[in-house]
Amino acid sequence: MTLTDEKICTDLDLDASQYHGAVSPPIFQTSLFTFDSFESFTESQKQEREKYVYSRGVNPTVNLLEKKLAQLERGEQCKCFGSGMGAISAVFLSLLQSGDHVLFVNNIYGPTSQLLKHLEKFNIEHDVVDHNLKNVESAIKDNTKIIYVESPGTMLMKVVDLKALATLAKSRGIITAIDNTWSTPLFQKPIELGIDLSIHSLTKYLGGAQ
Ligand SMILES: *Cc1c(COP(=O)(O)O)cnc(C)c1O
Repeated sequence: MTLTDEKICTDLDLDASQYHGAVSPPIFQTSLFTFDSFESFTESQKQEREKYVYSRGVNPTVNLLEKKLAQLERGEQCKCFGSGMGAISAVFLSLLQSGDHVLFVNNIYGPTSQLLKHLEKFNIEHDVVDHNLKNVESAIKDNTKIIYVESPGTMLMKVVDLKALATLAKSRGIITAIDNTWSTPLFQKPIELGIDLSIHSLTKYLGGAQ
């Protein structure tokens, strides 16, 4: 089979005959992919999000994982990163600009808070509020771009009314993101409750860790 074959991009999970009927799909342990010609390489480079060029971008095994995670979360799409903090960083770095404000709701994973402290030097500010929605409402600022929540929250396991939080944020045009690591999509599907982005650390419960 050719790795540049478009079919593999779309059917890896659905068509087991492409990998000899194996129940478990093969693991593509490669950083680079090869091409028949220089032209097909440059063409693929132009569509790096769809074509397999370099595994940091897209890789068949990771693609399959992304599809399955999106299905579990009832989301439109999923993007996997090298670590949970990689995913969390991508949310902030891709959506925020200098001058924006982030509102943390409930107890937040330590390194995530540290990341936002670090972003202060780029003129991105943040505040922290507890799980009480009245406090959330009064902490919203004109420049609040993202409401970032953990529920259950790290260590204390307090829960937030996610549906009400999503409704409040939507009425103000604010993006909502949740770190859903503690629940996994088996126990909580935040997107169905109106949250925009659901993030996971796959080194924990969802990845099989106790
Ligand atoms: C561990 C953890 C993370 C970070 O994930 P890594 O894969 O270790 O980077 C993020 N959020 C929560 C709630 C975690 O427990």
